[in-house]
Amino acid sequence: MADGSPKLHVAILGCTGSIGRQALDVCRQHADKLDVVALSVNSSTDKLVSYAREFSVRAVAVADEAHVNDAVLAELPEGCLCSFGPEAVCDLAIRDDVDCVLVAIVGAAGLEPSHAALTAGKRLALANKESLVVGGDLLMPLAKPGQLIPVDSEHSAIYQCYLGENPQQAHCIWLTCSGGPFFGRSRSELESVSSSDALAHPTWSMGAKITIDSATLMNKGLERIEAKHLFGCDLGFIKVVIQRQSKIHSMVEFDDGSVMAHLGASDMRIPIQFAFSYPDRWETPAPRIDFTQLGSLTFDEPDFETFRCLKLAEIAGTAGGTLPCVLNAANEVAVEAFLNGSCSFTDIDRVVESCMDAHAVEPVQGFEQLSDIDAWARQQATRVLKGLRS
Ligand code: NDP
Ligand code: MG
Repeated sequence: MADGSPKLHVAILGCTGSIGRQALDVCRQHADKLDVVALSVNSSTDKLVSYAREFSVRAVAVADEAHVNDAVLAELPEGCLCSFGPEAVCDLAIRDDVDCVLVAIVGAAGLEPSHAALTAGKRLALANKESLVVGGDLLMPLAKPGQLIPVDSEHSAIYQCYLGENPQQAHCIWLTCSGGPFFGRSRSELESVSSSDALAHPTWSMGAKITIDSATLMNKGLERIEAKHLFGCDLGFIKVVIQRQSKIHSMVEFDDGSVMAHLGASDMRIPIQFAFSYPDRWETPAPRIDFTQLGSLTFDEPDFETFRCLKLAEIAGTAGGTLPCVLNAANEVAVEAFLNGSCSFTDIDRVVESCMDAHAVEPVQGFEQLSDIDAWARQQATRVLKGLRS
């Protein structure tokens, strides 16, 4: 660890979100092992100041520069450095006193901090799946073995199923999916669902964007692309299976027919903590699973036609190059529009598909190229949304 002390010094980027707050809870429960050094937010300066005081952090960053004059920032702990803008968030990731960076930012905005953490040789505890969807081709070659630990529950599960195994002898990955709140519905039933229906996830409590992605199954599509990069395989190697109870977090099937499954409570604090404790295991931060109360585990096939986003992500993940960047950016815009009430649930996949159709795929060459294509896809998605409304 950075200063030779037994504690792991962590930076939590996106500390006010669902993952960020659960990470802070892990840090509270393991205060003897974890030291929170730096925190970032987009705009929630009130909560940032309160966490900075609680954990006596040394540095904070606020991505949205419109908050530079927020009066509450005067109450940061003495000596705490405060900076603004997306660059300031990246600067936290490369600080000398940071060992491990948890990227719990939502959306493509997580890409540059993830890149900064890897190039600075930090451990990257990665919740932000969009980083890998958009820039996996650039990030993965930078990650040394054991440097990038996934936090997404399925990917943490797969990572653990592979421990001690020869990946060459794996037959396939079973990526489990809860099915979301609209499992079993028809396409025509989906036309009229509201954002409050879509925000009611059956098994997980998460931020708004990923909750909508879980309802459209875009989340599973993004996770397939995330897994392709993390585990260096083709998309076809990763099979999606609906596991309604969200107790099997994913599985790896080996050549001899043996299947390793990772089970546990549906609580993100467990994979967050694993990304900090790896290769060790610490006392659980969450209630343990009780198999006698679990009842049954069920398995179903996903419906790629009704949940069109799953199909679109398959097309993008198979084509690779810059298409996943377009898929992701268009989806971010469409999800926001759905949450604002300005488009329907099924318009989300219409917008994404239309942007993908309008894009000529290129191999990924660099961050500037991805940033330009991301910006183009956002403009294109906004135009498509306007067209749908007129
Ligand atoms: P939330 O929306 O709850 O939180 C997002 C966090 O990121 C907030 O701290 C927010 O700050 C900050 N943020 C938002 N936009 C920006 C930006 N442009 N630049 C810098 N910071 C920003 O998201 P979740 O915690 O649900 O998800 C975070 C990531 O983890 C996502 O990529 C998601 O897919 C992934 N994930 C989440 C899971 C979950 O259970 N929630 C499970 C598995 C993966 P502010 O409060 O100021 O807006
Ligand atoms: Mg997941």
